[in-house]
Amino acid sequence: MLFNVNLIDDFIGLFYPKICISCNTVLLKHEFYLCTQCKYFLPRAKFHEDIEHSLIKKTLYGRVPVFGSAAYYLFSKKSGVQNILHHIKYKQGKLLAKEIGIWMSEELKNADWIKDVEILIPIPLHPKKQIERGYNQSEEYCKGIEATLNIPTKNILKKNIYTLTQTRKKRYERWENVKDNFEIDQNISGIKHLVLVDDVMTTGATFEAAYNALISAGYNGKVSIITIAVATYLV
Ligand SMILES: [Zn+2]
Repeated sequence: MLFNVNLIDDFIGLFYPKICISCNTVLLKHEFYLCTQCKYFLPRAKFHEDIEHSLIKKTLYGRVPVFGSAAYYLFSKKSGVQNILHHIKYKQGKLLAKEIGIWMSEELKNADWIKDVEILIPIPLHPKKQIERGYNQSEEYCKGIEATLNIPTKNILKKNIYTLTQTRKKRYERWENVKDNFEIDQNISGIKHLVLVDDVMTTGATFEAAYNALISAGYNGKVSIITIAVATYLV
């Protein structure tokens, strides 16, 4: 017997309705991941349009000379955006991360600063975490941007792995100090403009550490930053 795919989908939907990742309302047939209301009304960053008033630039002032910057969402605690970020990280939200990359690049394609970007560099996860999760959400986000804007994603930033002695140090603050320590494993001296990409920016410490790794590797081109969301509660 032949089954109509839509019928099967409707049948499954009766028991497991697809719900909006942000607000939990049941999705309509044409809606994916987010309901129409969340898709259009969640707080958006739009820094790519106003390069001088970017929250990313402001947060990293004096630490990273940010050229261009963009984030899709503004993030505050207990918001719909937090639900989206949680889904991307912990609920196999690989496809959603890529999808938001596509949405982001639809906006980015009109920004002047993106035009000479040569590579996208995702902030890596700890290798153990990457194995557990099966993907790096920042890399998936890059792939969405790559698919639309044709800027290649390069995994050239590596997380430094610590020795047993260091992992034995139990104090949390110690871990906080060293967890974001990166190195570049390729020659990047010929590159003139690159973008560091992460899922969310709060204090900017991760980008600062990534930038320091670029400098240590002899990089002297422009650095831009793209995230899925940027936290608003520090300002
Ligand atoms: Zn919703």
